[in-house]
Amino acid sequence: MYSYCFHELPVALNKKGQYREALAKSIKLHPDQIFNLAVARFSLDCRRKGDPHWSYNLRFETNCKLKTTGNNARGLVEARPPQKDPPEESLKGSLSLPDEIAIVGAGPAGLWAALHLLRKGYKVNLYEQGKPVEERFRDIRRFFVDRKFNPRSNVLFGEGGAGAFSDGKLNTRSRNSFSEQVLHDMVDFGVDKDVITFAKPHIGTDKRKRGRAAREMDSLRGLGACRGAFRT
Ligand SMILES: Cc1cc2nc3c(=O)[nH]c(=O)nc-3n(C[C@H](O)[C@H](O)[C@H](O)COP(=O)(O)OP(=O)(O)OC[C@H]3O[C@@H](n4cnc5c(N)ncnc54)[C@H](O)[C@@H]3O)c2cc1C
Repeated sequence: MYSYCFHELPVALNKKGQYREALAKSIKLHPDQIFNLAVARFSLDCRRKGDPHWSYNLRFETNCKLKTTGNNARGLVEARPPQKDPPEESLKGSLSLPDEIAIVGAGPAGLWAALHLLRKGYKVNLYEQGKPVEERFRDIRRFFVDRKFNPRSNVLFGEGGAGAFSDGKLNTRSRNSFSEQVLHDMVDFGVDKDVITFAKPHIGTDKRKRGRAAREMDSLRGLGACRGAFRT
């Protein structure tokens, strides 16, 4: 089996998601000859006036050796075969710690540190000076109505951290592989799975229903991350 990537495959606006057929046409194979096809990234390409289209970066395998040079092979490159996930037990932490780990702050940094340490099997306590996200909603709404400012529960402080009420563009300049893991975690917690592959992912936390944000946080608390640790 040969592994390839195809960069910037154009797909018509009304054919979102129909990249298998477009790829097959482009590399002159039957769609059934393409295996393990996966989207690495997709975006809306509006660079050419009058021709907005979806643009897909794809990974796939095929039994046929394809030509990756020359004008007809534009966008096609050879790739390494996909990596297999490491076995679950090798992901467990091996440090023997005398105490439980304390994390200060339930913003994105604290929440993800807690989540990953818990998955590795460590005991974690997360301390947050503000309130759980659903109570934060109330304090913020009150502030916009009567200007009563709670210094520990506001737009910046509380469960979810400073960006919890932003418009939720998922920005990071880091190319670290953990960034992708964070997107997968978000999907596990109920966010639309397009965030993993869309080039400019956007959650829109400000428009998120209070109940939904609370439910997502609940699942994290269910793991034990926020044990009795608010208003610290
Ligand atoms: C209005 C706004 C809009 C934003 N929009 C976006 C966006 O659209 N996209 C994007 O990618 N980024 C956005 N950001 C940036 C993003 O919010 C930050 O990069 C991110 O929140 C940083 O995460 P953090 O966990 O490091 O810190 P924070 O989110 O600041 O979290 C720190 C937490 O620690 C708590 N804390 C601090 N000191 C103590 C203490 N001594 N004891 C207990 N708890 C403590 C605080 O209450 C807070 O909840 C926005 C930021 C703001 C302010």
